[in-house]
Amino acid sequence: MSSSFSELGLSDSILRALESCGYTEPTPIQAQAIPLILQGRDIIGAAQTGTGKTAAFALPTLQRLDKSLGHPRCLVLVPTRELAVQVEENFRRYGQHAGLNITLLYGGVGYHEQVAGLRRGADIIVATPGRLLDLWGRRQAHLDKIEVLILDEVDRMLDMGFIEDVSRIIRLCPKERQTLLFSATVEKSILNIAKWALREPETVDARSGATAAETVAHYVYPVESYQKYDLLLTLLAKTDFKSVLVFTRTKRDADRITEWVESTKNTVATLHADRSQPERAEALAGFKSGKYQVLVATDIAARGLDIRGITHVFNYNVPEHPEDYIHRIGRTGRAMEEGVAYTLFSPDEVLYLQAVERLLGKPIERRKLDDFKYRFEPMMGANTSTPTLAPALRRRNR
Ligand code: AMP
Repeated sequence: MSSSFSELGLSDSILRALESCGYTEPTPIQAQAIPLILQGRDIIGAAQTGTGKTAAFALPTLQRLDKSLGHPRCLVLVPTRELAVQVEENFRRYGQHAGLNITLLYGGVGYHEQVAGLRRGADIIVATPGRLLDLWGRRQAHLDKIEVLILDEVDRMLDMGFIEDVSRIIRLCPKERQTLLFSATVEKSILNIAKWALREPETVDARSGATAAETVAHYVYPVESYQKYDLLLTLLAKTDFKSVLVFTRTKRDADRITEWVESTKNTVATLHADRSQPERAEALAGFKSGKYQVLVATDIAARGLDIRGITHVFNYNVPEHPEDYIHRIGRTGRAMEEGVAYTLFSPDEVLYLQAVERLLGKPIERRKLDDFKYRFEPMMGANTSTPTLAPALRRRNR
């Protein structure tokens, strides 16, 4: 594997940008994908966020586009607005000496600025599917000269029900093009798209459970579900953190936890799909700037977010999809920094936890919080069965 960016064939202007980003060596996905993309190959990249996948596709693409021709030549399709903003930021940073125009298109905001961006002559469009099709229908976004099509987090786009929109957009691009498909999981539905949308793709795999987990110390705290709130707040109070991301499965839990955290001395913001775009942007900006120490988010809203310097991730639930565990804990310990992730685990989640441990290939260390008044002895073993809980007590604690 190459040990420096210059050995991968990247140009001086890109190397200068990387220097100002402080990147000294390529991550594994970058070392594998960059030379292939520079050669014009189609790629299936199996990689979750935290692996450096954005730079893996952005750097060689910027280099291949070379100079501005004043019309859209590269389209990056992403599932969420937040990810769109992040990918665009990355393209800007890496392309700071490239002289290419980049435009961001996503829903929930007015058209004016986005249309103006397109009219100025965008070389690169970073977009969510709905708004892109909308602007295409209004004859504002032109896809007939796209040379590089990048489909990012395709698994999430499919989960979110975008399959038809994504397929339509692929068909709107010229047949003669380079296509780069990135996805955390590469299951049948993804391969089905690859079959017709990609040409002799090379698969580049940077998923190993260890990739995300390597720099993250992660622990499971077994607890009955009705004591999760208490345990979460006690853990928060006992933890010396700079910034904490709390993941929940539901929007309702996110709202409730936010209220709980508000009652402590910490500042807190919430990120989920029912919040308006300005609210989401404010929550994220406030968390990044340090105005909020705690961000409570659902998986969908938080997937792929790249926020630097998160010291702790708290999983209020064990995720239903094991890959989400890697995504969630991948929010901390980013690119060589150390992070800590805690997962609260109740007996009804035993199958989910087993799936996560299967994916990681090893059990996650169980921990018990000293001085916490557990109503039931927590299950500390890796292979745990549901403990007995008196029915009367279950009812009382609902
Ligand atoms: P991504 O997986 O694209 O979301 O990137 C994860 C994080 O790693 C981002 O904060 C990038 O800025 C950072 N990053 C990407 N490539 C490198 C690299 N080669 N060295 C150090 N940090 C990197």
